[in-house]
Amino acid sequence: MLIDGHNRVVDYLRVSVTERCNFRCQYCMPEKPFSWVPKENLLTYEELFEFVKVCIDEGVKKVRITGGEPLLREGLEHFIAMIAQYKEDIDLALTTNAYLLPQAAQKLKEAGLKRINVSLDSLKPKIAEKIAQKDVLQTVLEGIDKADEVGLKIKVNCVPMQGVNDDELLDILDFCKQRGYTVRFIEFMENQQALMTTKGYTSEEIQKIIAQKYHFVKCERKGSSPSQDYMLDDGYVFGIIEPHKDDFCATCNRVRLTASGVLIPCLYFEDAQSIKEAIQNKDIQKATQILKNVLANKPEKNKWSQETSSRAFYETGG
Ligand code: SAM
Ligand code: SF4
Repeated sequence: MLIDGHNRVVDYLRVSVTERCNFRCQYCMPEKPFSWVPKENLLTYEELFEFVKVCIDEGVKKVRITGGEPLLREGLEHFIAMIAQYKEDIDLALTTNAYLLPQAAQKLKEAGLKRINVSLDSLKPKIAEKIAQKDVLQTVLEGIDKADEVGLKIKVNCVPMQGVNDDELLDILDFCKQRGYTVRFIEFMENQQALMTTKGYTSEEIQKIIAQKYHFVKCERKGSSPSQDYMLDDGYVFGIIEPHKDDFCATCNRVRLTASGVLIPCLYFEDAQSIKEAIQNKDIQKATQILKNVLANKPEKNKWSQETSSRAFYETGG
């Protein structure tokens, strides 16, 4: 079992397989970065898998593949199959913008993927285009349909933004409710890459908008989920991810690996260590030691107020 320096069990690994993306979401990557990490500097799927095995052997129970846009990296289904075959009962998930799901969903499912989180910030074509800076909505909706059809369990992530999609939160909730998907509204997290004018909403403000149509109660917090859940009178549960709350870090169970092999203990904390050399030298003992060192050094709380992270969300995987 992996325990961090503040006695929290760490059993959730997020692996970013690429920082590249086919969208330019205003809250994440409004502009194409000056340069991408060259492909030869990325860990191969086999190398990433070696480290995933280290984590699973040490007690990780949940692995999420993310990015950038993970479906942009060719052969992702092979990486998924490696993990799924190594541990059948692993909770294996993918976060995606859904744009490439129409062609990818079937092979992802066959490879052993169980569930996906899809970013859906608007149901209006023009607003979706404004947020992602590309005409994406129709293909995204086709991707969601395809994922549903092949039997992937779906959650929706939505970042409410002032003056952008705030008049659609109830529509997005209803869309998810009708289809049986959980929606999670994410408080916008300030970062240096986001479009300067982007302003999010606090959980309380999001709740006020939902309360215009629905009565709901706060659910008891489950395990280490980052989401605070709320239940409507008919039993439908939606979530709000509230990173601005003081106790958000108390149950953190996550560690993040970037595509170039940097192991990051916290989104808003500059320290990190590379496992690349250890993995490429097949030195599993060293990789395990680095994992334990990074966790020993995981901060009790994010350093949000002290340092606005210069690390991009598309690099860490959000
Ligand atoms: N491209 C995929 C996607 O968009 O789902 C996966 C990577 S994206 C970085 C992972 C998640 O981070 C998405 O749900 C996205 O909405 C969220 N995200 C990115 N930047 C954010 C920000 N500044 N504040 C809150 N959430 C953010
Ligand atoms: Fe790309 Fe996802 Fe970031 Fe949007 S949130 S720019 S889809 S990585």
